[in-house]
Amino acid sequence: MADMQQVPESITEIVPNFHVLSLPMVTRFRGITEREVMLFEGPDGWAEFSPFTEYEAVESSRWLGAALEFAGLLPGVARPGATKAGPSGSAAQSGAAQSVAVNATLPACATSEVEPIMAHYGPVGTVKAKVAEYGIDSLPADLERLREFRRLFPTTTLRLDANAGYTLTEALVACAEFAAFDLQYFEQPVTAVEEMAKLREQLADQGLPVVLAADESIRKADDPLRVAELGAAEVVIVKVQPLGGIAAARAVLEACGLPAVVSSALESSVGLAAGAQLAATLPRTPRSRELLGEHPACGLGTGRLLAQDVVGPELSLNPVDGQIPVTRIVPDPQRLERLAVDPGRFDWWSTRLQETWSALRASLLSSGS
Ligand SMILES: [Mg+2]
Repeated sequence: MADMQQVPESITEIVPNFHVLSLPMVTRFRGITEREVMLFEGPDGWAEFSPFTEYEAVESSRWLGAALEFAGLLPGVARPGATKAGPSGSAAQSGAAQSVAVNATLPACATSEVEPIMAHYGPVGTVKAKVAEYGIDSLPADLERLREFRRLFPTTTLRLDANAGYTLTEALVACAEFAAFDLQYFEQPVTAVEEMAKLREQLADQGLPVVLAADESIRKADDPLRVAELGAAEVVIVKVQPLGGIAAARAVLEACGLPAVVSSALESSVGLAAGAQLAATLPRTPRSRELLGEHPACGLGTGRLLAQDVVGPELSLNPVDGQIPVTRIVPDPQRLERLAVDPGRFDWWSTRLQETWSALRASLLSSGS
């Protein structure tokens, strides 16, 4: 499918111009206080390439594939909507939802802070509470916070996320307590997929009604398949860029058969827009409806972690009443200038773009022949 003619050696033939921005964050997250993102425009609109800076070329190449796809620049890929006016495959054209629900996040906070933090979000249907900040030592405080949450919001859909904070033994102890809170699911209590699978077995043995979701276990394109094969979770959390784009994510989710929740990789609104498009067009299976309801909330409300975005607050994909629109984002030219990285970082990203492209190009040529 991809022939040599369509796949030039130099990325500048495909992406002649790009911007690299440093977006300040509200608080340190994932060890960073500034989120660096590359943005470029193609026939379908603006796209974001933003692998975390420590990622090597091969891992980053899936992120680049996703960005090129979203911009309409991926060589050798027919763009079904390209002849129509407007962006290809937009949700409006396909009849999919024009907005998607997103969950609010309740951080590890004092019990007295639960009410003000939730008030700040306004009405939301789904809340994800972070637990296990200090592993099992956090359990008493986590339980107290969840009791306060349930006192205030007895019917709001509740998810938990431990970010792999427990050992297998600790996770079982925690799940025995958490089961009382009527959870939709529990994200990544333990680290390894094998441990997730064991935990699921033990939960079933003890009759504990806790549904497990895999998040950190999914870092690359075929990980959802591995989660399904091992029976490590009943729900998979997926992100567009690490899975290689919207089409690749849809394909792997179809193959894995597990209900999916789309989440962000801490993108700007340009990157979040790709997540919203995937979320709006995911197939709803009977199992997905049973576990996640008719309109599962995505984890795409992370725009509020950025102190500055590529558009002003009124145009950003920050949730309003627990929803974000399914739309394309055009960055504000003034912000592109104001938030631009210094020349040294720009050069670093230019080099990275070409190195990443070389890795992606190699895989396009080997899979396309
Ligand atoms: Mg998570």
